[in-house]
Amino acid sequence: MKHPLVIVGYGTMGDYHRRKLETIDGFEVVAIVDIDEEARRAGEADGFAAYATLPEALAGHEADFVLIATPNDSHHELAMTALTAGKNVLCEKPAMVTSAELTEVIAEAARVGKLFMVHQNRRWDPDYLAMKAIYDQGVIGPVNYIETRVHGSRGIPADWRTKKVNGGGMLLDWGVHLVDRLLLMVDSPVVDLYASLSYALGQEVDDGFKAYLTFANGVTALVDVSTTSYLPLPLWVLQANRGSAVIENWSTPGRVLRLGVEEEADAQPIQAGAGMTKTMAPRVKDYSNSYKLDDSLESLPVPVVEADVCDFYRSALAVVDGGAAPVITNAQVLRTMRLLEACVQSHEQREVVHFEPAVNEPSA
Ligand code: NAD
Repeated sequence: MKHPLVIVGYGTMGDYHRRKLETIDGFEVVAIVDIDEEARRAGEADGFAAYATLPEALAGHEADFVLIATPNDSHHELAMTALTAGKNVLCEKPAMVTSAELTEVIAEAARVGKLFMVHQNRRWDPDYLAMKAIYDQGVIGPVNYIETRVHGSRGIPADWRTKKVNGGGMLLDWGVHLVDRLLLMVDSPVVDLYASLSYALGQEVDDGFKAYLTFANGVTALVDVSTTSYLPLPLWVLQANRGSAVIENWSTPGRVLRLGVEEEADAQPIQAGAGMTKTMAPRVKDYSNSYKLDDSLESLPVPVVEADVCDFYRSALAVVDGGAAPVITNAQVLRTMRLLEACVQSHEQREVVHFEPAVNEPSA
């Protein structure tokens, strides 16, 4: 049986979901909703009934699912409307603009016994899955430091994303993805964080941020988002005592280096800039060519993990048709939301935020 589904918000992500859903058995898009007339015309051109409001669409169609792909501030009202009408809800990230709103929606979903699941699609990104495999499998030994980052130089797109009232800003945009994944990778409570938001573009919402997290297991991490970086730094850095892994960008596989010898002779001092150093002497055969590594290092392949982002929709079907557990839980989404709120608190108070109890309890 195909579940009739209404897409609310027929912009970039509404269209993305329409295309993905076409590849999945089990859903049939029956209508779209958009406040914009041009978007409604696009929906009609794609063969769907189009409405200006969700209640009108639900009055006209027997939908089982509502998929929300509108600007962030509208998710709460739309999710409440859909759940109260007895529909399952798939919702774009950020789930809501505040954890209080999200708590309310989670409670409503529980009350009506329907699914509410957030589209944390970047859990299926190859770069994340490769780094998670290195972390989980101990490829470079126990990791002690992580950088997870996205850098661009085009500022914030000049739409609702620049407006505070719409839940704009990079913390609620890319921050949601990066923190969500980091908390899954490091299965240990976050004990404290320090964050600073960037307003380099002089807009009312943050155009980037840096958050430093400490986990109970001793791992530290930097979450770094910038829209004013013309020389982007790597998407990922993992450091361990005996190795490092880096993924520079979305089009290169990355590099993994591991120390291949148990004992080694002391490094010789080298001329470095205006001084000498032994500590920072690179592991190269020839100091004039930093790409020719010496024999102490092994170069390992970056793991390739097979994954399909459409498992998000398949999980929704498995929950509704078969009572399975959802692939993205609301407890996970809520802890990320709370951590992002702590980032704002840290920025505003210029203080380290200590968590008691810790945010990322594995039971969540
Ligand atoms: P968009 O501006 O391209 O499209 C939003 C659409 O929603 C527009 O057509 C607009 O007219 C319509 N809309 C606005 N308010 C509405 C309302 N109350 N009811 C019905 N329609 C309404 O935006 P987008 O890039 O598609 O982003 C939509 C959502 O998807 C946001 O929450 C965003 O954070 C998220 N997003 C997720 C990803 C991801 O990879 N998961 C990527 C981009 C955006």
